[in-house]
Amino acid sequence: MKQKLFINGEWLEGKEFADLFSPYSEEKIAEIPQATEAQVQAAIDAAYENRGVMANLTAYERAEILEKLLDLLTENRLKAAEIISLESAKPLKFSLGEVDRTIETYKFAAEEAKRLHGEMIPMDAARTGANRLAYTLREPIGVVAAITPFNFPLNLVAHKIGPAIAAGNTVVLKPASQTPLSAIFIAELLEQAGLPKGALNLITGSGRLVGDQLVTSDQVSMVTFTGSPEVGIGIRNKAGLKKVALELGSNAGLIIDDGANFEKVIPKCVTGAFSNQGQVCISVQRIYVHENLFESFKVKFKAATEKLVLGDPMNEATDVSTLIAKKEVERAKEWIDEAVAGGGKVVVGGEVENHILQPTILTDVAADLKVSCQEVFAPIVIVNPIKSVDEGIAAINDSKYGLQAGIFTNDIETAMHASRKLEVGGVMINDIPTYRVDQMPYGGVKQSGNAREGLKYTIEEMTEMKLVVWNQE
Ligand code: NAP
Repeated sequence: MKQKLFINGEWLEGKEFADLFSPYSEEKIAEIPQATEAQVQAAIDAAYENRGVMANLTAYERAEILEKLLDLLTENRLKAAEIISLESAKPLKFSLGEVDRTIETYKFAAEEAKRLHGEMIPMDAARTGANRLAYTLREPIGVVAAITPFNFPLNLVAHKIGPAIAAGNTVVLKPASQTPLSAIFIAELLEQAGLPKGALNLITGSGRLVGDQLVTSDQVSMVTFTGSPEVGIGIRNKAGLKKVALELGSNAGLIIDDGANFEKVIPKCVTGAFSNQGQVCISVQRIYVHENLFESFKVKFKAATEKLVLGDPMNEATDVSTLIAKKEVERAKEWIDEAVAGGGKVVVGGEVENHILQPTILTDVAADLKVSCQEVFAPIVIVNPIKSVDEGIAAINDSKYGLQAGIFTNDIETAMHASRKLEVGGVMINDIPTYRVDQMPYGGVKQSGNAREGLKYTIEEMTEMKLVVWNQE
């Protein structure tokens, strides 16, 4: 029950603990050590002192550790999914999906470890470049501080640890306070997989305290953060010259053009809006439907949403469970009430049932209300009619966020036009904005972030380019 910190290859006792409760059953599930300042410093020192050990591993050795990790995770698939569901209330079917994606993420990391290379530079293309042989090397950046959110506690840790190991870095990992158990489980598996001591250090405790110490340390070369824009911007402001990669929130939008195939679109919208209770950074939050389809879309989307099963996340039949914390249920309900007071209409849901917020569809919601312009991070989606695709594009772009967007259309010119005009990091044609596989470049513009994840792209961020020039005169 009492968990430990993992520092310099050893599991260390905590001094103070915080109780961890299951969001659904509200039962106490663990006691989590709250790392002291000295323990955080010990974790940073361990990562700093072992940089050379990791940097000296060959690509073969780094890939081998990651391959062993993914074998161990495959053997422990159900156990890992149960941990996710227990600590985060993610319904088990989605937790199993997250474990499968995580296995793939580590697989891509292992493969990318073997593809890490520089390039030849044609020096003699310059007037004074004759007789020079030049090439770049990609060297590990050093200590990576990884700070992760609660909503994908296994796979978003993998998006940081996987590329960091593949690139030959050391890591200090600070998982979200509500979901430390998935991270602890991965640290145990990595130890079994033969990761050198000090290469991964896991510290738990309040983000504000532990996080600050990591972000301001001179021994840390890069901070990689996934979480809310408020915290991300705060980190960026404190980090000084170190590299800071931010993967932040959004209020993802989807356009449905006239003539789109409903049979395909509806089930995707249900998954995109309500899986993991809408606590997905690319959850479908705003749907703009061509006015010719609007009424029938609304009826069919409502009918499909009403079929969702609410309940215990440990039950495989459950589609929707409780949000990560009671105060989040209250906040989301207040946002629904604000939308209704502002003229919005509830198509389905809108109420709290045994502390689970019902999957909620709203319509006629004005653009300046919170459920539209803020990140809702709850099972709430708004559906508004549009006269043209351009009206939908303008509505999606009228946001401080820009992570991913989607459009369903049968017209190739319209698809091409939307892909150019949408101000986001990724455009999904004939798919929902929630679509992601783990090797693709993923990240946002505006307040959605400043980096791209996806193994190859993260590894680029986690390495320094060194130029070597040989004078052969
Ligand atoms: P959060 O509250 O920002 O927390 C994220 C992490 O930051 C946690 O580990 C947290 O620790 C830590 N933290 C809190 N305050 C800190 C500080 N002052 N300095 C350093 N670290 C600090 O986010 P969340 O509620 O866990 O996650 C939801 C957010 O993540 C949403 O906005 C979502 O869109 C975003 N997200 C983005 C992506 C993406 O790839 N773009 C993916 C998933 C989620 P504590 O838990 O101890 O507070």
